[in-house]
Amino acid sequence: MKKMLPTTTVGSFPKPSYLTKARAQYAGKKISHDELAEMEKKATREIIELQERVGLDILVHGEMERGDMTTYFAKKLAGFSISSPVRSYGNRYYRKPIVNGSIVRNGPMTVEMFEYAQSLTQKPVKGMLTGPYTMCDWSFNTHYSDRRSLTLALAEVIAAEAEDLEKAGAQYIQIDEPAISTRPEEINLAIEAMGMVTSGLKAKTISHICYGDFKTIYPDILKLPVDQLDLEFANSDFANLDIFRDPPFTKEIAVGVIDIHSHKVETVEQVKEWIRSAMDVFPPEKIYIDPDCGLKTRTLDETEAKLKVMVRAVNEIRTEKGWD
Ligand SMILES: [Zn+2]
Repeated sequence: MKKMLPTTTVGSFPKPSYLTKARAQYAGKKISHDELAEMEKKATREIIELQERVGLDILVHGEMERGDMTTYFAKKLAGFSISSPVRSYGNRYYRKPIVNGSIVRNGPMTVEMFEYAQSLTQKPVKGMLTGPYTMCDWSFNTHYSDRRSLTLALAEVIAAEAEDLEKAGAQYIQIDEPAISTRPEEINLAIEAMGMVTSGLKAKTISHICYGDFKTIYPDILKLPVDQLDLEFANSDFANLDIFRDPPFTKEIAVGVIDIHSHKVETVEQVKEWIRSAMDVFPPEKIYIDPDCGLKTRTLDETEAKLKVMVRAVNEIRTEKGWD
């Protein structure tokens, strides 16, 4: 029997302090790239072990080698340079990718780390990519004539990367598009670009979307050519669940049941109640359970405590329903 309510996470995990230190040392040219890469692998191994300990069904590699989800790819692609730090969200600074040439992929960008993470576990590890629309929206374009031509150029290179991940054995490929919900008027461009990435893939395809008001993109978002949408619900106390009752949801859905913005660890009862309410709207056989978003803003201890609650809630529901 297929396992009901498979558990997973959105992608990022908190970096252990030795890795944060190593990244700063590398930026200051105090350690070599190989030394940093060793630390990234050690941290990846620990994140895989954490997920095994918690008992998740579908794992991620944890993104120990990534800072921001767009700059990581921008640094690897020809056609991009990176700005000096610009300010966002209050006091957080980030480096914005600048497109100043034709986008070209020099080679695989994520395959080596995927293969390493997958070699450490019998469970499937998801391949993790940033979608073409979000890459465009979060970059500063000085080269392409319009947003559409930049987005489609990005779709070509991300499609090639997805194909390489599939060849390397990825059974799940997640192409995140958090920017979709912030510009609903461009959803058709995001849909067109995603089609270029996912057409021809046999792996299960997933897209995580967050930040926005889902009312503005539903039901249009059902046209995004992926098998599964991964959405946040816990942060709004599941107030947005009703949006998806009518018209009925037609894809698989990963339901966020852990608020990644809060230090507070959810209770098993609360998570079970949320899962039950999700099962009232989505067919249970199409539901996956995960946190709202990436976990990188939490501590490792909070992350493990929250994920344990999530898995326990799922296990109790499986038992109650006779789905063990
Ligand atoms: Zn998110």
